[in-house]
Amino acid sequence: MPRRVDSPRHGPQVNILKKVRTGQGWRLCPVVRETNGRLRDRVRVGGRIEVHAEGVYYLEWREEGRRLRAAIPNSVEVIERARLKSLELEARQTGVNLDAFRPERRTESLTPVPRARSYGGISVEPPLNSDASRLLLTGIEACIQERVEAALHSRLATTGVIDAEPETPPRAQTELLPPPPEGYAPSHRRRLELSRPPESNGTSDPPEDAGTIAQSIDAYLKDVEPPQREPKTYEEYRNVLYRFRDTCKKELVKDVDRKDCLEFMRHLYSIGNEARTVYNRIGIVQQWLRLNDITGLLHGRDKPNFVTNMREMYQPEDLEALFKACDAEERIRYLFFLLTGERDKEVRYTAWSDIDFNRKCVRVTAKKQLGFKPKDKEEREIPVPAALLDALREYKARHTEFNRHDLVFPTSEGKPDKKLENKLKRIACRAGLNCGRCVSKFGNKCSEGPYCGKWFLHKFRHTFATTCLEEGVSIRTLQEWLGHSDLASTMVYLKYVGRQGVHEIIDKSAMAELATNAFRSMPAPGATLSA
Ligand SMILES: [Zn+2]
Repeated sequence: MPRRVDSPRHGPQVNILKKVRTGQGWRLCPVVRETNGRLRDRVRVGGRIEVHAEGVYYLEWREEGRRLRAAIPNSVEVIERARLKSLELEARQTGVNLDAFRPERRTESLTPVPRARSYGGISVEPPLNSDASRLLLTGIEACIQERVEAALHSRLATTGVIDAEPETPPRAQTELLPPPPEGYAPSHRRRLELSRPPESNGTSDPPEDAGTIAQSIDAYLKDVEPPQREPKTYEEYRNVLYRFRDTCKKELVKDVDRKDCLEFMRHLYSIGNEARTVYNRIGIVQQWLRLNDITGLLHGRDKPNFVTNMREMYQPEDLEALFKACDAEERIRYLFFLLTGERDKEVRYTAWSDIDFNRKCVRVTAKKQLGFKPKDKEEREIPVPAALLDALREYKARHTEFNRHDLVFPTSEGKPDKKLENKLKRIACRAGLNCGRCVSKFGNKCSEGPYCGKWFLHKFRHTFATTCLEEGVSIRTLQEWLGHSDLASTMVYLKYVGRQGVHEIIDKSAMAELATNAFRSMPAPGATLSA
């Protein structure tokens, strides 16, 4: 399949402007294009982006030292015209002779173009109003575009930018100007069909400004490339949108509809995504669609429903059993999790410089050399019990070997340890603390190995948060310690607090009495009712 020469959208040499009504009268303002390349009446007025539906678009370019402008009354033609103009200017620089296509040569049988000023083949000023002149332009542009693309292509091929390939022979000129049918007014689409060589019909290249899904996704991804977003976020966006692009059967963004979104969600379920993941992923697609002015495709009930799981906590007896089964190294590691409430990654990147023995606290700080940034980009400080600091001091004294990044819990090579959770599961399994009933998402049974879902690192954080609240730490303070950017995340833990007296109340209630009496009057299990 021949590779397409990607023509510039409007090229560095052609500006698109719009004459709009501003506070200071009519002004020519630069347009702001959408990420998919289309125009939606957005212009920059004195540094601000405004929407102006009124007014006319203009192209602006330089030729032989002069600045030239042409009005494009039909707004759907603007992008294509800009593209052609840009091609024409490029062609001039590469030495293509466009004079062979001057309109004079081709006007004999057609109504003369009213005062059509010619800039080397394309005459666009003044605004055209007769069908004949439009048709003339159509033919000339088709011709120029073809020649120019061929010239550009060979130039790029010789410079090695693209692979050289046989040029498509220019069509006979008679083909370029078909006899105009009665009352024929060429539409934008018609013109594009005309300008496409018949050989390329099979590839169905969309019009340049039509906004294909692939183009739009690439433009969007460019906008969110790191450092704009975290690399991990960017990667997720890219995977999700590329997957959408590959599963969606449509080509143009404007054709994407509700069915495509539902189909994509079904696809995600089919590859094993959980409801929460599907929810997040369809959200990414919607965000991209929103930038293309496509909203409201999905109703509330279309979105996946998922249950927010209860936060699991370690009970005192769990912790006692665990720490009993740990050796000294393991004990300090998991005590650190429990007593700081830090996230897995934060513990992994904790350096000795983060432990302040004097102020009795532990800090979460960015580690540029390791590419670690605290979540929500905020460094913080967590007070810790003196007992933990004592244990850390002893632990430090045992580890005097060189450690490049000065990490507190590194791997044997001194790198951040990603396996702290696996190691925890191994301890639990070794000590016979597995629940014996669960199966991991990869199908591993906890009755057979270190896979128990009851033991995971984040559970220390849940336990820390709840314990702090129970002991009277204020919710604001806890928010700070946990490093939550919004209070709502911290408030989740409130629902697990203050349960101590609950059972006494329930056991004394009238309902409990009723239940007790009911069970008392029932026959013992297995007893047969006498007839
Ligand atoms: Zn288990």
